[in-house]
Amino acid sequence: MTNPSKGMQDNQEQLFKTLKLYIPDLWSAKAHSASFQNTRSGYLRDRISMLAIVWGILIILWVPFDLIFLSDSQGIEIAISRVALAAYLFTIAKYNNRQTSLKKAQWCMTLMVAGLNLFYLYSMQVLDFPNGNSGIEYGYTLLPILHVAILTILPVTIKESLGLLFITAVTQLFVEFQADRLLTPENLADYWLQNVLAMMVIWSQLSKLYMLMRLYRQATLDPLTGIYNRRMLLQLANKSISHCEIKGQPFSVLIFDIDKFKRINDTWGHGAGDKVLRGFANFMQSKIRKTDLFGRYGGEEFILFLPRCNSDMAEKIAERMLRYIRQLDLPIGYGETKLKITTCIGISTYSSGDTLSSMIERADRALYECKDSGRDCSRFHPVGFRYQGNERRKAIA
Ligand code: GH3
Ligand code: MG
Ligand code: MG
Repeated sequence: MTNPSKGMQDNQEQLFKTLKLYIPDLWSAKAHSASFQNTRSGYLRDRISMLAIVWGILIILWVPFDLIFLSDSQGIEIAISRVALAAYLFTIAKYNNRQTSLKKAQWCMTLMVAGLNLFYLYSMQVLDFPNGNSGIEYGYTLLPILHVAILTILPVTIKESLGLLFITAVTQLFVEFQADRLLTPENLADYWLQNVLAMMVIWSQLSKLYMLMRLYRQATLDPLTGIYNRRMLLQLANKSISHCEIKGQPFSVLIFDIDKFKRINDTWGHGAGDKVLRGFANFMQSKIRKTDLFGRYGGEEFILFLPRCNSDMAEKIAERMLRYIRQLDLPIGYGETKLKITTCIGISTYSSGDTLSSMIERADRALYECKDSGRDCSRFHPVGFRYQGNERRKAIA
């Protein structure tokens, strides 16, 4: 019979794990991986441009009403500032459309919100700080609320959101201070409502960011081990190779294959095999540099891409990894039982004219040489090296 309190404990543990995984990501963009930052900045780019263009058009559409309903001098002054704001927003949209980095997206968001608030500050001064809840002035007193509400479409972190909201809050308080009504009961009620609205906006932004992160994780990470899946790994490796190629730096590939892994499944079951794969992936993650790329290539095969590593360094790293792996004790979920594993490592290094697949192919051939040599070892295959064992293998097949 299943134990309900154990189920509850599992649920709590799961929730705790999810919170631990997502809270840093939701708080600050610094916790995001470089590839997620790229994905989010692309997503932000579209939304910032859309918001700037729509807001710019709406701002201009209101010009005739100002000219009709406001006094001549006020109407003209505000109409000019509206056109200036629209031009400013269209410029941000244009510049933002070319931006590629998250930093630039953050700048565009900040400049957009600052511009909108500057217009509010200016129009309040031109209109002599209206207090009205009716008539054309209502459209102006409502602006801070709109400036908070429109942020809801941006998938920003808590830190970014607080920064953007801060700009609106400070502007509004400054306007109320200038109008000498900072703490009137009506204003206090307005602040309260605005805070409630701001919390709902943050909630909505975080839901969007969370959903984006979940979809991103599902599309790029291997569900069993939590490391990069094959598609993401190769995509990032391609970028990394191009980078090293441009800078004239070396680049190496290590393919790991766990020896006789099928036996673990056959002896202890697939659950134990899964735990071994997870333990191995976690262990490897803890041993690599920040700039290295490690992911699951398929089954019990993993790849480690080493930017800025030549063949000598790659061979040394492979030997060190083999030693570490031999010492590793992997729990398999049967009491205290722990298993030892060994691996084969095939190595190749970038040479001019190489592609990612030609490098992987050489490393893969080197891996087969390891198998033929009795496993638990590493081999390096330079360009042009022909391994006869593989030919034999193909001939037999
Ligand atoms: P070798 O030393 O020649 O590499 O032998 P091996 O048994 O490690 O390799 P083989 O290719 O014969 O078998 C790989 C096994 O890995 C077969 C497959 O059932 C198992 N496997 C692949 N993916 C998973 C997985 O996600 N979980 C588990 N538990 N097993 C997996
Ligand atoms: Mg294999
Ligand atoms: Mg194997």
